[in-house]
Amino acid sequence: MYKLSDFKDLNEECGVFAITGVEDAAHLVYLGLYALQHRGQEAFGMCATAVQEGESWVKATKDFGLVADGMSSAKLSQLQGSTCLGHVRYSTQGGRLSENIQPFVFRLPQLGQIAMAHNGNLTNALELREQLERAGSVFTSTSDSEVFIHLLARSNAQSLGDKIAGLMYQVKGAYALCFAAGDHLYAVRDPYGFRPLVIGQLDGKSVIASETCALDLIGAETVREVYPGEMICMGPDGQFDSTFPMGRDTRPAFCAFESIYFARPDSQRNGESFYQVRFRIGQRLACDFLPEDADTVVPVPDSGVPMAMGFAHEAGLPMELGLVRNHYVGRTFIEPGQMNRDFKVKLKLSPVQSVLNGKSVVLIDDSVVRGTTCMRIVRMIREAGAKKIHLRIGSPPITHPCHYGVATPSKKDLLAANLSVDEIARRLEVDSLQYISQPGLRLALGDQTQQGFCYACFDGDYREYIEKKAYQEQ
Ligand code: SF4
Repeated sequence: MYKLSDFKDLNEECGVFAITGVEDAAHLVYLGLYALQHRGQEAFGMCATAVQEGESWVKATKDFGLVADGMSSAKLSQLQGSTCLGHVRYSTQGGRLSENIQPFVFRLPQLGQIAMAHNGNLTNALELREQLERAGSVFTSTSDSEVFIHLLARSNAQSLGDKIAGLMYQVKGAYALCFAAGDHLYAVRDPYGFRPLVIGQLDGKSVIASETCALDLIGAETVREVYPGEMICMGPDGQFDSTFPMGRDTRPAFCAFESIYFARPDSQRNGESFYQVRFRIGQRLACDFLPEDADTVVPVPDSGVPMAMGFAHEAGLPMELGLVRNHYVGRTFIEPGQMNRDFKVKLKLSPVQSVLNGKSVVLIDDSVVRGTTCMRIVRMIREAGAKKIHLRIGSPPITHPCHYGVATPSKKDLLAANLSVDEIARRLEVDSLQYISQPGLRLALGDQTQQGFCYACFDGDYREYIEKKAYQEQ
């Protein structure tokens, strides 16, 4: 019997990019993954596909680390094919196995080799894996995403499209999924649309990406998002077919944290950038929780910057860079003994004493999860001479873990699940603490009727009620 902890490599935040019908498909996918690197830095993979003697074949390259470090022109030139699919993986706790690097490549009778890339987490992966193993399937990775492949292999449907449509009835949870087979791409989003997936066009050819920033980099036009529950089949001629294998009755639940923190600020959704959304979150915080004695607004970089700009704009205060981020931390070799938590934060962020000394600071951050990093930042600002620290947070208190693809700890390690706001303020050693309210967040997201977003980590309302029952026990 599997436990959740047995899944060392849940497929957390990831990025997907694919194109079909172009000669230099691999080169464009390389650029697309480069733009999506913020969605995963643990590993990347690229698969070029084409049709040969009536069957699909795949050429793949995969590696740990960043796309720019692991790819070379020699490797790119081997990825010949007019269709290419790429994936970047986020660093997760547990084993770093090369078998878990996507896209996965597998073979189906009569169809040939197929590549698959997944962003999101399946909430019934454990049960499905157990059932499949009892029925004889042999898994080669510890990733929840491999379940898709074994389900496809057991499908009696004739076409790949019908097999994928059948999958949607069997899996639960979050999936923005892409398959490359020969000169076709299939893109699927779960009925709730937890994770993003957008359609683009480049010179009349079809592109799929997790975010629009990747389309922008290659000069592709954003067409629209893949709708929740939709399956898109794209051919090399740039045309695509749309179906909704499970109908369209589900209330969408786009991850609020994509808007708050995870997506790149220049990416767009529904015609506006995530930068604009974050700016409004900051404005909302200033409207609701402006401290009387505030001198200056300081973001925790980089994600707190648009919110701090919104706060400062609304409050009529200056926004200053009181913390400077070192962007090269990941490449620094440090003796393990030096790597205590204080030092890790110091490596990443430095206070600017001339900005902070003697000031009453409004410190803006996007979220507080465990609170350990936040506490160290607060101490750092205090040591730099800040007179007061008023902490304002651009998300409501995180009281529940995410099971849809964002790496959050279990409930016992979530600060807000165990302490009141006043207790958290004391723990973090700030003079005042306020989180944006859930109605305030909905206003900032343009979701007044609570129809379109998932807020489960703030209120425990997991859209799939079965999971809700199961998760309450964790
Ligand atoms: S639970 Fe939170 S992090 Fe997870 S999908 Fe919902 S809003 Fe996003």
